[in-house]
Amino acid sequence: MGVTYQDYYETLGVGRNATEKEIKTAYRKLARKWHPDLHAGKDKEAAEEKFKQINEAYEVLSDPEKRAKYDRLGANWQAGQDFRPPPDINGFEFHTATGAGPGGFSDFFETLFGGAGPFVRTGRTARRGPLRGRDVESELELTLQEAYHGGEKTLQLTTREACPACGGAGFENDTFCSRCGGTGEVNGVKTLAVKIPPGVHDGSRIRLKGQGGEGLNGGERGDLYLKIHLRPDPVFTVQGDDLETEIILRPEQAVLGDRVTVFTLDGPVNMKVPAGARAGRRLRLRGKGWPRKGGRGDQYVRIKIDIPASLTAAEEQLYRQLAALRKEV
Ligand SMILES: [Zn+2]
Repeated sequence: MGVTYQDYYETLGVGRNATEKEIKTAYRKLARKWHPDLHAGKDKEAAEEKFKQINEAYEVLSDPEKRAKYDRLGANWQAGQDFRPPPDINGFEFHTATGAGPGGFSDFFETLFGGAGPFVRTGRTARRGPLRGRDVESELELTLQEAYHGGEKTLQLTTREACPACGGAGFENDTFCSRCGGTGEVNGVKTLAVKIPPGVHDGSRIRLKGQGGEGLNGGERGDLYLKIHLRPDPVFTVQGDDLETEIILRPEQAVLGDRVTVFTLDGPVNMKVPAGARAGRRLRLRGKGWPRKGGRGDQYVRIKIDIPASLTAAEEQLYRQLAALRKEV
């Protein structure tokens, strides 16, 4: 006997290469549009039929195993075409159609996947293999000091969790779940203690195993990736493994040289400024930069020269003498 071929991709209005997410989105949109509770009178019957088809299509396309099996029939079939299961396609196990009861799946579904095909609306009773939860990425902002020293940081994450009321199915007793509005997910807040390795770089990712999305049917949770973002620092600029800071010298310090206090990540150090230091010149503090393999980068100290806003009479007198001396040279 023949059964009628169902084009599940057409039913959901997605392409044959549609991603899981696209399929889910399409399904939710259509399920909302055609939910029988939202229709009345003559429309209700048509909506019920359509809703059934949508659910059947989703049941197949959202399950990697079923989808692969369905895809192997090839793309040459037309919706509504008389479908005769090929008798001996490798790996196919065909079942005799048992005739779907009210609310059940189509003969086509029964033929392909067998079983009584109850109108499974909740993820709890769907016979599916375990599915691993998705990986989630989040940002973690650190001050330069936090990133440099490492340590433990507590953070709160907003998560999307499977709705506890409907188990993630979106439906309850044939109507939309009132808790999650049919989306199957609710917002949650999770507090996590994260170990920050010392010297973590801007843009690097910390993996927290099993802190990602929830798995389905006993599948393990996905991972959480925390992307490190270094907050701009008022003192230090990070350039790769090197750091840059500034010192401001008075003119006579720059001309004659001096010893000055410079801030590093490890605290203040005393640095020698050579005589004749020009504005914009960078002095190097070796090994005072960011941690890297086998050591640390350098810190560069950029020289700025500040002109005194006001001079005492004695100072002004001395500058005039300097100016006169320059003219004579
Ligand atoms: Zn729910």
